[in-house]
Amino acid sequence: MTMNSTGRPTRSDNAAATDAPTFTGNKALQIEEALIFEIGDFAGTGVDLAEPEAREDRLGGLNRNSDIGLPGLSEPETMRHFVRLSQKNYAIDMGPFPLGSCTMKHNPRLNEKVARLPGFADLHPLAPNDAVQGALEVIDTLAFWLKELTGMPAVAMSPKAGAHGELCGMMAIKAAIEARGEGDQRTRVLAPESAHGTNPATAVQCGFKVDGIPADKTGRVDLEALKAKLGDDVAGIMVTNPNTCGLFERDIRAIADAVHEAGGYFYCDGANFNAIAGKVRPGDLGVDAMHINLHKTFSTPHGGGGPGSGPTVLSEALAAFAPIPYVVSEEGKFHLVETRRAAKAEGDGAESFGRLTAFHGQMGMFTRALAYMLSHGKDGIRQAAEDAVLNANYVQARLKQEMTVAFDGYCMHEALFDDRFLKNTGVETIDFAKAMIDEGYHPMTMYFPLVVHGAMLIEPTESESKRELDQFCEALLSLSKRAKSGEIEFFQAAPVHAPRRRLDETVAARKPILRWTPENPAEAAE
Ligand SMILES: *Cc1c(COP(=O)(O)O)cnc(C)c1O
Repeated sequence: MTMNSTGRPTRSDNAAATDAPTFTGNKALQIEEALIFEIGDFAGTGVDLAEPEAREDRLGGLNRNSDIGLPGLSEPETMRHFVRLSQKNYAIDMGPFPLGSCTMKHNPRLNEKVARLPGFADLHPLAPNDAVQGALEVIDTLAFWLKELTGMPAVAMSPKAGAHGELCGMMAIKAAIEARGEGDQRTRVLAPESAHGTNPATAVQCGFKVDGIPADKTGRVDLEALKAKLGDDVAGIMVTNPNTCGLFERDIRAIADAVHEAGGYFYCDGANFNAIAGKVRPGDLGVDAMHINLHKTFSTPHGGGGPGSGPTVLSEALAAFAPIPYVVSEEGKFHLVETRRAAKAEGDGAESFGRLTAFHGQMGMFTRALAYMLSHGKDGIRQAAEDAVLNANYVQARLKQEMTVAFDGYCMHEALFDDRFLKNTGVETIDFAKAMIDEGYHPMTMYFPLVVHGAMLIEPTESESKRELDQFCEALLSLSKRAKSGEIEFFQAAPVHAPRRRLDETVAARKPILRWTPENPAEAAE
């Protein structure tokens, strides 16, 4: 039996045994979970209500005459069903989550405690301003620190994700261009070929055409190619910095100047702000609009598609177009500017493009992010950025013994590998990632960015200890060696320890089955 350094077995001696079928289909404590409709029988119930006394029928003949069709389970069955489902999610609280570009950092419990204070957790969005002064102060204080950290004069707090922040920034840019009377003329938005998919999607959503800018040999925006594409039909540029290859765009000032000179605006995708927070102020780089993913940089949880939060900082040129509502303070009292008419008196938002969302943004994320900022302080935020960069470079330096780094030199907060090291092994990026699952790791970001063949983008974040990083690197080094030594079948079978192996993700995404239909509809309705 192979042992690791702490004397625990690392590999099963009997590979066939891992695959042995069980009577239940469960694998040890990995319990198979059917849909709740499939386990319940329609007659069962978790509650026992007395039959109502004879009562007058007020439904005018519209009474239901078939079974309601809810699954019938006892209370313990119901509880187990949902607890088991909750355990099927891999989470940052269970192990490292090296997804590049996503900044899956630890969410300190202190944040949770603060967000659960009844004064924040029990707020109603329609409560009168007088009753929620503290909550408005939280929004205002967070806005202050976001402006301070980015060196920008204004911030829209209501966007509810990074992509929503992009929409906010690009709508502000569109409104500014329309206010200049150039709405029909400036229809093109430039974006690097390595851009996150949300960037071109946002530009198209706002009615712009997207024009790709190639990367240079170092993985950065090709400045000359960019300049050649500028013209009086360009509305602006969307650039991520540090970029999605994990590299700082060294020409960022020159990029901003060239775009401004051509009459365009500079949208910066701030998803990677974690690498530079407390060290670089995007406002000093010539940025006009940038979203900040609170659920990345400021440690609020990434939900399954939400709740995120993407406050968007805006330059002097765009501040007037900011969305409503926003918080202002006057003589020690906070209030919300809810309409454009009210905004006129206030300056910012005077030409607001309107409302992005029903209420004021993600309050729970605001309290968590502010708790994180205040508990870290200026030096702590800077150190988090430095440690994130250090960790990524440590991983890059250790893994490059066996794996191929996409671009030479130090990286920022994430390390980008390509699939050259797998050449002629028959193992592909996807096989490598699936084998990581067997080792107990969530795979890194794969096949993104598109500018690199078979990309593997690893972002350890500052949260991981050296011990965790070492074990992670050793697992990847061992997999790399196995790939090179021709263990192709091992990789193609992976994952063997997961409850499911390889699912057809394309079909799942393109033809999702979102609705359960009973095998025998007539019976179910009885
Ligand atoms: C995460 C991310 C986004 C989108 O942010 P969401 O909060 O997921 O909408 C945009 N750009 C980059 C580079 C990202 O990493």
